[in-house]
Amino acid sequence: MIVVERVEELRARCDEARGAGKSVGLVPTMGFFHAGHRSLMGAARQATDFLVVTLFVNPTQFGPNEDLAAYPRDLEGDAAAAEAERVDVLFVPSVDEMYPHGAPRTVVHVAGLTEGLCGAARPVHFDGVTTVVTKLFSIVGPSTAFFGRKDFQQLAVIRRMTADLDLPVDVRGCPLVREPDGVAMSSRNAYLDDDERIAARVLSRALREAGDRVLAGERRSDVIEAGVRDLVAAQPLVALEYVEVRDARTLEPRDALDGEVVLAVAAQVGRARLIDNVVLRVDGSHVEVDLGVPAGERGTRSVP
Ligand code: AMP
Repeated sequence: MIVVERVEELRARCDEARGAGKSVGLVPTMGFFHAGHRSLMGAARQATDFLVVTLFVNPTQFGPNEDLAAYPRDLEGDAAAAEAERVDVLFVPSVDEMYPHGAPRTVVHVAGLTEGLCGAARPVHFDGVTTVVTKLFSIVGPSTAFFGRKDFQQLAVIRRMTADLDLPVDVRGCPLVREPDGVAMSSRNAYLDDDERIAARVLSRALREAGDRVLAGERRSDVIEAGVRDLVAAQPLVALEYVEVRDARTLEPRDALDGEVVLAVAAQVGRARLIDNVVLRVDGSHVEVDLGVPAGERGTRSVP
């Protein structure tokens, strides 16, 4: 594995790989790798010949009062994890390298999909994400890019952007990876103290119980959402930001569960803003509840 810091070097290496007939895979990240990140690398390693992982804590996707300065970093640990996943190139640009003119002068904006859910509380977030991902697509030229379904809205936004801009990239969604106690893996779990970490379990538990209600026949979105709200309200360390049933593709609100929908939550737990979701596929009386997958032994990062 080589570590690359310059855009032009990354571009040259990807050009060379494509010239040699290799397919290029891309996994964009902000680092502090856990088993969720590593599962994307594993999927990308299997599906593509030349694997680029980018590690960039992108300042433009953080709001002014968010956790940019505190965001956890561990370049040495991340490089070792990426090497173990047989990554070919780990790209770690500086902020100046990505934005040599300061604040971006050109911004990619996906309308509609970015307005609700996390976009309501984080108004600049998705423009930061879509702009940096467009730049990475342009530099790397991947045939396939891998994103986690943990960030469900982000995945939908990137799929929409890729389709609308005719970008020649296959955007692949990968399963949400969970800690053994059900908590969705996140770099931001590192912010939680012991009590908050235990309290955070209520989110995945509420989603699992919601899934059980749907399996038992409940189809009303408001009833499902109220069930989550009640359970989380009993946990004083967890402040629910939203709980919503949405269409899994369009993210339009849905009054009733039918077809493929996502039940998505966001909550503040101590200093950490956490998100989680369950995908529900409802076809008459047949229901599939997709909560993701447990982390394997490999790459599980213990939370301080
Ligand atoms: P981040 O470094 O948090 O920006 O995440 C980089 C990529 O890893 C995104 O595509 C995320 O959706 C994905 N990811 C983060 N956490 C998880 C998780 N628990 N399971 C699956 N993918 C994840």
